[in-house]
Amino acid sequence: MSAAATPTGDTVQVVAIDGPAGTGKSTVSASLAERIGAHMLDTGAMYRAATLAVLRAGVDPASDDVRDVVDAADIRLAVGDGDTQVFLNGEDVSDEIRTNDVTAAVSAVSAHAYVRTKLVELQRRHADDQFLVVEGRDIGTVVFPNAALKVFLTATPEARAERRHRQNVAAGRESILAEVLEAVNLRDHLDSTRAVSPLRAADDAVVVDTSEMTLEQVIDRLTELVTERIGVRP
Ligand code: C5P
Repeated sequence: MSAAATPTGDTVQVVAIDGPAGTGKSTVSASLAERIGAHMLDTGAMYRAATLAVLRAGVDPASDDVRDVVDAADIRLAVGDGDTQVFLNGEDVSDEIRTNDVTAAVSAVSAHAYVRTKLVELQRRHADDQFLVVEGRDIGTVVFPNAALKVFLTATPEARAERRHRQNVAAGRESILAEVLEAVNLRDHLDSTRAVSPLRAADDAVVVDTSEMTLEQVIDRLTELVTERIGVRP
């Protein structure tokens, strides 16, 4: 990791990166964090861990029984350099939270207001004492409205499905492009139309369309924005 100055001021020391699935958010956030000397917090991993707890308990993700399961679940993220490790009741579930079953149920679980309240509190605690790149759906709008920089990544559904499909194949997961596209569209619809903290760009977010950009180009653009807005020189 490169050494970098820590930004100060009224804003929180957070770069918020929101956007729908498959915009390259996770990869971009991890690389950006490394470049600017920050740690990365993957909030989707928390919602996925909560969802895994619900599925393991045999509870319907849409039912009110989700509350008891999530209340009892001890969800922790090891935030640092590289991939985020996720623990559910002390067990490392970093791989299991990426399965298709969890992906299919996560929007329903994350639509419950009490799930969001619990996880948002955990997310804010992480930012108490460190410079963070935080990726999610509501980081700039709800979790850190005072973030030093807010970015909203977008891309066409086709470009996003293609990326997810390639990730699945690379990770050895079963994947059919047409089904991935359908799942991406459905998850976006659920995430953007839910009553609590829907996915949307904050009014003061910089919107970056990554459809025609390489990973390097996106990271360069974001690094430029960080330098302009926060003053960190990588
Ligand atoms: O980013 P990822 O695809 O892992 O997110 C999984 C799901 O978690 C999203 O589809 C969304 O339902 C939920 N999520 C959320 N708020 C966040 C991050 C993720 O509701 N801040």
